Amino acid sequence: MGTTSGGDVPAQAVAPARVAQVAVPPMTVDRPVRQCRALGAAVEAWGRADGGATRRDDLPWRSTRDPWAVLVSETLAQQTQLSRVVPAYHRFLTEFPTPAACAAAPLGAVLRAWEGMGYNRRARNLHLAAGIVVDRHGGRVPDDLGSLLALPGVGPYTARAVQAFAFERQVGVVDTNAGRVLARAVEGRSLRPAEAQALVDAMVPTGRGWWFGQALLDLGALVCTARAPACGVCPVRRRCRWARAGQPEPDPAKGSAGVSTVHARFEGSDRQGRGRLVAALRIGPVRAADVPAAVGRPEDQDSARRIADALVADGLVVRDRTGELRLP
Ligand code: SF4
Repeated sequence: MGTTSGGDVPAQAVAPARVAQVAVPPMTVDRPVRQCRALGAAVEAWGRADGGATRRDDLPWRSTRDPWAVLVSETLAQQTQLSRVVPAYHRFLTEFPTPAACAAAPLGAVLRAWEGMGYNRRARNLHLAAGIVVDRHGGRVPDDLGSLLALPGVGPYTARAVQAFAFERQVGVVDTNAGRVLARAVEGRSLRPAEAQALVDAMVPTGRGWWFGQALLDLGALVCTARAPACGVCPVRRRCRWARAGQPEPDPAKGSAGVSTVHARFEGSDRQGRGRLVAALRIGPVRAADVPAAVGRPEDQDSARRIADALVADGLVVRDRTGELRLP
């Protein structure tokens, strides 16, 4: 699961990615494959807590291999704190337990189930993806990288997360947590996306894609944190290049592949206005004259109009001839 958990990573591409991006790049990193495997084995072993559970076994999507549930969880988690994702995950899957159920619903129903999650384009993309899964894949989320990347809102992280966490494939995942560990521990420098992917793929212990992926995300979330890495309890501290070098500045995680950057200010942003307007529309239609107030800018009709126009252009909102807005 990418976090803030990152998401694809972090900000997943809104447009479908092209299949041409799928090819696994050649190994272009400094570590020999043998060392990558040893690092991967150490991470995977650490990830198995007492009783054979993962370190964050309370995350509900860890108890399923349903590809739709995994795709929903990963989409919800993009740029969103996991504490908010868990209730939304249960709510969304109760309402839309299958791609077919989601595809058959109007977008407005999906947006209502998305309440409180923000970034409503993710809901639209999930709805579009469900339709493609039904139309082209018989209602089953595909397992190959090219087909996954062709789904709206699915980028390199989410595609591989579905492969690893639903289909238990031998692939590595690079979200913001994993990207931090890779940059610091494995290479001790910032990585390009192709380098990070090649590295993490080389680290996956044979047949342990699911366990290794969860362990790597847990290591980044619980130990190798952004501000204060707990190197003293880290399972790879003896092999960590950055720690062994005395943690020189700059932190190699900064700007490295998969590692999310600081989000733009939310208060007063158009994103806040968009969220307010969609929230008002979940309750019912909004007349044209009431749009500025619904956006939270009663004195600024021009920017309220701009925000409403953008939502209409995105297909998230419908405007009738009188200017009244409603969810699709
Ligand atoms: S030793 Fe420290 S910097 Fe290196 S991977 Fe572990 S927690 Fe991160």
